Amino acid sequence: MSLPEPYPDLDELLVSIGEAGLRLASIEAGEGAAGNISLCIGWPLEVRRRFPLSESLPLPLAAPALAGKLILVTGSGRRLRDIHRDPAANLGAIVVGPDGETGQLYTSPRRLFEHVTSEFNSHLAVHNDQIARTGTNFHALIHAQPPHLVYLSHVPAYREQATLNARLLRWEPETIVQLPEGVGVLPFLLPGSPAMMAANVAQLRENRVVLWSKHGVMARSDRSATKAADLIEYTETAAHYEYMDLVAGARGEGLTTDELRAIVRAFAVPTTLV
Ligand SMILES: [Zn+2]
Repeated sequence: MSLPEPYPDLDELLVSIGEAGLRLASIEAGEGAAGNISLCIGWPLEVRRRFPLSESLPLPLAAPALAGKLILVTGSGRRLRDIHRDPAANLGAIVVGPDGETGQLYTSPRRLFEHVTSEFNSHLAVHNDQIARTGTNFHALIHAQPPHLVYLSHVPAYREQATLNARLLRWEPETIVQLPEGVGVLPFLLPGSPAMMAANVAQLRENRVVLWSKHGVMARSDRSATKAADLIEYTETAAHYEYMDLVAGARGEGLTTDELRAIVRAFAVPTTLV
C-alpha cells in the first residue's frame, strides 16, 4: 500500500517521529538510548532548510530499491523520549544516490550525534526489501525494547511462535484485529550481525512486528511512525497481561477460541491464527 496525496510534509514527518518516540518512552520501551526509528519516503522533499549541513555517506549495504529515496533516521546515542523536543537535532536525513550504494547525509547545525543509529544496516535492509517487494512510497520502522515482551522471550516456551501468539492474542479483542498475522519470533541473534539482519528481513515479510528474543522488537508500517508505535504498544500490552497472569498464578481465563473466532468473523479479520 502507498500513501495517497496530499503527502505529509517534512515537518509533519519529523513531528510524527517525535510522537512515536514519546509513546514508546511512555511504555518504557526505550530506556537510556535504546531504540531507533527510521522513515523511508518516496516522494520529493526538500530537506536542506531543516538539515543544511551535508556530507557523503557510504551505505552499510547496497539498497538498489531505495535509489533516490529519502531516509529520516535517529542518531546514535539519541533518546527516543527526547526526539520530540528538537527532531532535526536528533535525526539525520539521508538521500540515497542513484547507485543505491552511497548516500548524502544532511544534518542540522544543532546535530547531537556523530553517526546515525548503529542499527542503520537493519533498517536499510528492511526498507530495501519491503520497497522492492511492495513498491510502497512510504515505510516506517521502529526498534524498541518493551520489557514484558522481552521478558517472555527469556522463557523458552514463548520463543515458539505459535505458543507466543496463542498466549498474547487471548487478552483483548483488539490484539488480533491489529495484528492479524501475529508476532514473528526470532531466536537470540547477535545485535547488528549479518545473521540477525537476514533473519529480520525475512521475518518482517510475514509479520509487521518481530520479536528479537532476549533483546527487543522491530515493527513496520506503511502508514506512519505512530502506527508502527501503536503495533508495539498493542503487542507489549498483551505481553503485560500475560506477565501479570504468570505472576498471579495463571488464574486468567483469557478469550476462548470461540470468542476469538467470533471477533474474527465480526470484524472480518484476515487471519489464520484462530
Ligand atoms: Zn536494541
